[in-house]
Amino acid sequence: MPATAVASSKIDLFGLTRDELFALVAAWGFSAASAARLWRYLHREAATSVDGMDELPPRLQTQLASHARLELPEVAGENSSSDGLTRKYLLRLAGGHEIETVRMRYRDRVTACLSTQAGCALGCVFCATGQRGFDRNLTAGEIVAQALHIQRSLFGVTGSGPPERLRNIVLMGMGEPLLNYDAVMQAIDILRDPAGLAIANKRITLSTVGVVPGIVRLADEARPCSLAVSLHAATQEQRAALVPAAKTWPLDELIEACRYYTQKLDRRIFFEWTLIDGQNDSPEEARCLAQLVRGMPAHINLIPLNRTAGFDGQPTLSAATTRFQAILREHGLPVTFRQRRGLDIAAGCGQLAGAVANRALAITP
Ligand code: SF4
Repeated sequence: MPATAVASSKIDLFGLTRDELFALVAAWGFSAASAARLWRYLHREAATSVDGMDELPPRLQTQLASHARLELPEVAGENSSSDGLTRKYLLRLAGGHEIETVRMRYRDRVTACLSTQAGCALGCVFCATGQRGFDRNLTAGEIVAQALHIQRSLFGVTGSGPPERLRNIVLMGMGEPLLNYDAVMQAIDILRDPAGLAIANKRITLSTVGVVPGIVRLADEARPCSLAVSLHAATQEQRAALVPAAKTWPLDELIEACRYYTQKLDRRIFFEWTLIDGQNDSPEEARCLAQLVRGMPAHINLIPLNRTAGFDGQPTLSAATTRFQAILREHGLPVTFRQRRGLDIAAGCGQLAGAVANRALAITP
């Protein structure tokens, strides 16, 4: 089976843009009004079955039941963090591969962390997904379906009030989005649609480990999302030890691509830095990082290491974190210290591996 194939000959409706869905419905001989109702059922109401699509002509319902796939992925497992703010879902895709998707509730928003591949081939040493290996790319429909699943999970949360809406998407779950470029871009276009989930451009963040050709392409195509680059080290040698992909796309080429991106789009870039005790958290490292991104509109996100079973590093202690942060600020860099979420259910950055039941118990923060 090809890497992106799904074991179904039916059309995956969640993978169609609004224009594509309208064209399909028109080709079947139905009106634009019916197409608009169908789009609304799918992307506003997160419907998962033709049953209940009562406003559609019965013949269109029959056509959909025969030729289209609109089930959301099966929930094979789920866990909630002890504070109730983070919920992790193990979703089983057509064909049997499993991925993880995380819902994070904050005071003023809900964020969905979506996967773009089942597994990952890039093998970052501290990442549970990388430790697990690569199965296949997700389709655009499978990426969109995760967001719709999260939206669906929010219906009813607010009791009698209006349903809470998903506002933020981070493509930081399992997989490297820029190695599944076309499907990810199609999904972003669908998620942004104002008649659908209507996620604002600046509220969609794509995270890459540094796939240089993908960054250049994002810039050339002026794709409407924020970009976060997982840097983790400021020298080629040290980075290659943590992020094997750096051997393919060396640090100097990566930084050059990032500068190109910021200049071409007149947009800032986020750099993610996982702080690992004794490995990349010294004052010297902080100064080296500041030097590396000098002159670029950059924002640094510091993330203490989230532990995984396959890596014995420890998170940086708070005194060293504070010192690291202070040095970056002295160099004029905006710095955010990323809140750690869902560690008791292995839902933090780098902890997603597609085995909710086992790993939630196996890993302690
Ligand atoms: S950090 Fe991202 S790129 Fe690296 S192994 Fe994990 S999922 Fe893949």
